[in-house]
Amino acid sequence: MSEVHKFLFDGVPVRGVLVRLTDAWTEILRRRASVSGAYAAPVQNLLGEMAAAVTLMQSNIKFNGALVFQVFGDGPVKLAVAEVQSDFGLRATATVVGDVAPDARLSALVNLNHEGRCAITLDPKDRLPGQQAYQGVVPLSLDAYTKIESLSQVLEHYMQQSEQLETTIVLAADDKVAAGLLIQRLPLAGVANLAGASSRREDEIDSHEDYRRISILASSLQRDELLTLDSDTILRRLFWQEKLRSLRGAPGDALPHFFCTCSRERVGKMIVGLGQEEAQSILVERGEIEVGCEFCGAQQRFDAVDVGQLFSDGIKMPEIGPGLH
Ligand SMILES: [Zn+2]
Repeated sequence: MSEVHKFLFDGVPVRGVLVRLTDAWTEILRRRASVSGAYAAPVQNLLGEMAAAVTLMQSNIKFNGALVFQVFGDGPVKLAVAEVQSDFGLRATATVVGDVAPDARLSALVNLNHEGRCAITLDPKDRLPGQQAYQGVVPLSLDAYTKIESLSQVLEHYMQQSEQLETTIVLAADDKVAAGLLIQRLPLAGVANLAGASSRREDEIDSHEDYRRISILASSLQRDELLTLDSDTILRRLFWQEKLRSLRGAPGDALPHFFCTCSRERVGKMIVGLGQEEAQSILVERGEIEVGCEFCGAQQRFDAVDVGQLFSDGIKMPEIGPGLH
């Protein structure tokens, strides 16, 4: 079973999450393999790390909506997407063109010419009209000469930028497990009101020392340990000298699971978006419009009657107005 394990350190302003995706991850891989063939190992591992990363972030910020991590690559991986809903419904896909070397690192996959970039989007559920999704863009290079070779480092930069919180992230994935550990230093809330300026500075130094120590322990986690051990064992091995408090969820809490948000209705809207002329020309050429979902493999077919219906519905809808049908 996939798991999300949150924890705190007693008396220390540091929190953490450990995520292990098993069934949710292998379902993503199984669907891909059955529709268009399995990913090359480096692409699979990149996508797994992205899936673990979005689950870590979702658990950490508890966002009511979709958290989407996209990498726009300039190497063989043109696009990689991992998306998680607030109930940990998860999907991921990658578009790969050309060959991938078996030992390809991050830059060889997505940042050959320093033109790769990635974005994290928070798309609220039940978005109000005119409300925008929030998007943060994160570079894949430190400067014109230095490419970042680990996804965790990319995300640590993002967390520092967006939340202004020091964060340590460890990620790993193979064909069975996608997993990650996140450790974050929390702001010293309220301390300034209770104590004078001098002790506040001491608290700040203590807090920094505590975080450094825990961060170094977290970073010592090996790929094999993260992929093969359960969360209790990992946390015990890493933090046995710390006062760690598990925040186990209730038995009924949502666990990470495969979920695709695609639907026939969405594909219908996309066809309407093409315009009637374009849709008709596809129908003349192919007899029907068929759209496959990159995430789950579902095929939606629209014949001439379906397409006719879409456009007549599209014309009627504005007259009825929202909320009245
Ligand atoms: Zn789908």
